[in-house]
Formats: sequence, C-alpha cells, structure tokens
Amino acid sequence: MIQLYNSMTGKKEPFKPLEEGKVKMYVCGPTVYNYIHIGNARPAIVFDTVRRYFTYRGYDVKYVSNFTDVDDKIIRTANELGEDYHALTKRFIDAYHADTGALNVQKADIHPLVTETMDDIIAFIEVLVEKGNAYASSGDVYFRTRSFKDYGQLSQQSIDELRSGARIEVGEKKEDPLDFVLWKAAKPGEPAWTSPWGEGRPGWHIECSAMAKKYLGDTIDIHAGGQDLKFPHHENEIAQSEACNSQKFANYWMHNGFLNIENEKMSKSLGNFLTVHEAIQAVDPMVLRFFMLSVQYRHPINYSRELIDQAANGLARIRESVANVEHRLAMTANLGTANEKWLKRIEEIKQHFITSMDDDFNTANAVTDLFDLSKEANLYLGEDQVATEVLEQFLAVFQELSTVLGVTLTVDKGLLDEEVEQLIRDRDTARKERDFARADAIRDQLRDQGILLEDTAQGMRWKRG
Ligand code: AMP
Ligand code: ZN
Repeated sequence: MIQLYNSMTGKKEPFKPLEEGKVKMYVCGPTVYNYIHIGNARPAIVFDTVRRYFTYRGYDVKYVSNFTDVDDKIIRTANELGEDYHALTKRFIDAYHADTGALNVQKADIHPLVTETMDDIIAFIEVLVEKGNAYASSGDVYFRTRSFKDYGQLSQQSIDELRSGARIEVGEKKEDPLDFVLWKAAKPGEPAWTSPWGEGRPGWHIECSAMAKKYLGDTIDIHAGGQDLKFPHHENEIAQSEACNSQKFANYWMHNGFLNIENEKMSKSLGNFLTVHEAIQAVDPMVLRFFMLSVQYRHPINYSRELIDQAANGLARIRESVANVEHRLAMTANLGTANEKWLKRIEEIKQHFITSMDDDFNTANAVTDLFDLSKEANLYLGEDQVATEVLEQFLAVFQELSTVLGVTLTVDKGLLDEEVEQLIRDRDTARKERDFARADAIRDQLRDQGILLEDTAQGMRWKRG
C-alpha cells in the first residue's frame, strides 16, 4: 500500500483515494514570464514521478497543473520588453513544455490558464461574497480571513500569531491586515476583465481554487507544490475552497523540499541563478532528472558540479549494464537454459523497488534498487552460459523501473563492430555446418540492424546501410 507524508497532519498515511482506482491531483505551476530555473524543475520532476508511480500501481490519474499567465511580474516584464503580455506568456509556456519535455516530464492532463478560466474565477468569488467570506472594496475584492476558522492549519500558525506580524500596506483597502486579495481593480493600461466589481483581474491564490474545482471537483485527493507555497498560497487556497464549497479541499498535501546551488539559496542577486534551458546545454537532461531523484523529495537537495558528475557516472554505469545485456542478447551465441535463482533475484529487486516507492515515493532508495539490478546484471553476464529468458527479464525490469522514474536507460540499440564481426563468423560456421536456417537467421538479424553483407574474393565484407 502506498504511504505518503501528508503535510497537513505531519504524518505518513496510507493513500486512500476518494474514488476507487482514481487519483485527482493538482500541482501548482509556474508564473510564465521567463525560463524556469532548476529549482522549479524539482516539483515538475518529483510530482511527475509520483504520477507515474500511481499509474504503475494501476491508478487512473487525473493531473492538473496551472500556468499563471497574468500577474504583476508578467505585465512588468512585457512592458520592459515592449512585448504583448500574451505573446510573452505563450513564448514561456512553450519554453516550459520544451524544458520539462527534455526532462521527460509528461504533460498534465490539463494545463489551465488564468486568462481562460476567468468566468469560473469570477463565479467563485461571487459565491464567497454572497456567503460573507469576501467583500468588495473600491473595485477590489478581499477574502475575510477571520471568517474561516481553520485558517493557519497547514502552516501550523494561529490567526492571532499571524495577526501580530501583519500590517496594512499604504493604499490597501482591507478590513483586516490578514485579508488577502481575490480581485484587483484595473490600473490604467493593464489587461482587465469585466466583473460585478468593475474592470479588473484576479489575485494569485484564487486561480488554483477555481481551477481545481472546475477540473477535479470540490474535494481532490492530492494537492502539491514546493514547500514555500504552504504559506500563504496553500493556506489561502484552503480558506477560499472550503468556504466556497463547504467541503474539505484536499485529502493529502505534498510539498517538495528546496533545491540549493553549491549549498546556497539560488537567487539572481547571488549570481547563482541557473535556468533549465541553460543547464541542459551542459548536462544530459536525463542526468539532471536522475540527480533530482537521487534524494527523497521532502529533503533539501544540493546542486553542485560534483554531485551532477556523480549522477552522470552512476547513470552511465546503469546504462552500460543495460547495453551489455542487450548486446549479449543480440549475439545469440552460447545461450543456456534459464536459471531460477537469477529470475528470483530480479523479482526480489523489483519488489524492493515497489517497497521503496510505496514509502512516500522514496526515489533515493528506488535509485539504489536500480543500481542493485545493474550489479546483478553485470554478475550474470560474467557467467559461462546465459539464457535468453533471464537476459530478457533483466531488460524488462530495467525498462519497467526506469519508466516509473522517467529516466531512459537505452541510448543506442545498434550492434558494436566486434559484435557484427562475431555474427559474421557465426554465420560462416553455420554455413560450413550446413545449418542454413541459422545462417539465414543471422543474415536477417544483421539486415534488421542495417548491416549490409558483401561476398568478395577476399572474403565477407560488411558496411552499415
Ligand atoms: P514559482 O514560479 O516561483 O511559483 O515556482 C514554481 C514551483 O517551483 C513552485 O512549486 C515552487 O514551490 C517551486 N520552487 C521554486 N523555487 C524552488 C527551489 N529552489 N527548489 C525547489 N522548488 C522550488
Ligand atoms: Zn496554487
């Protein structure tokens, strides 16, 4: 059974879906005005892996992740660049798909945009106003935080503690410093939509509540994001959704730990800011993904040249085992009958992988399981005789586990030169022994690999087609 750490209760809990066999999952996505940085890649990779694992365990996952495509930073950047804000967000949504695609992150089932969810957002705010949980104030609308008694539960802060730190900024039109904005009156020259409170646009938090409700329903299974989103973003989402729907918003809250660079917080001012776009020019994106998964998602992770090199070496070792198994299978020589001991060992590793992932998606242990499989494969290849069935089983399990982690292990399926030459010698022997069926099978195998044979006076020559 899958156990996951619920940030709301602070405990690992068995996963019980709302609906048998289904997972409804919402992951807060980026604000799209620049390339994502490698810290943003962590939730993308981690929750993609969570989704892959649920799918592997037979669940039908519905995965929704938003793009914030209108906000202050977007408007400011578009103005600085003299670019239409829509063109800017479209450019960076495409860049997001390209970067995360390179990291083998599957697209969400739905990637809603704020600009395309406006009617639902406005309708959501209207309910909050009707219920007395929100109020209009000179064209803005605010959530009345004190009206939601459980406020602060996720981040374990009481309303009174929060209150002592809060101040009303100049120009804000709130009743209480804890109140937060749901709708902002338009400023001249800004994109704006018509609402019952006048022209304006939504605040940040409301989009996720409205999108989760629209695409997943009033109560969802899992809500996820980086740990910095716990407060105030997720706290505000809970208040909005539960006040509007009078139902629990999410049964499980998952938060990934932060990524630091060379043990420092990543920031533009420290000059250690690295986008995925730049990072994958220098590092194989699969190495980056493998590196991200080498630490359990709740722990902090440190991005350093040394650790990336370590990940690259580790992944190369596993890939080499896979290539060796594949090549050994392609050689078709010296094959014996399957040995139960090895099949059992492969199964044990697979079961251990499942245990690792069942334990709050412990990818660090799952990666170790993959290394174990690689070690066993190397030992097996050292045996005098190997069996097709065992080699195939190694490959099948490599494939199965690496698909869950989203890390591709096969790089090049082609035959090495020496393998081609060995096959040609085997074919010669078969012909001499008048085993024409085998000789033909080898010729076909070579042809399938694009190897062309040519009988010459000097003997058999070959080239790649
Ligand atoms: P943002 O665009 O800043 O809202 O971030 C998008 C996602 O990336 C959110 O889930 C953040 O919590 C997460 N995130 C931002 N910075 C980091 C970081 N350094 N390490 C891990 N996650 C991060
Ligand atoms: Zn959100």
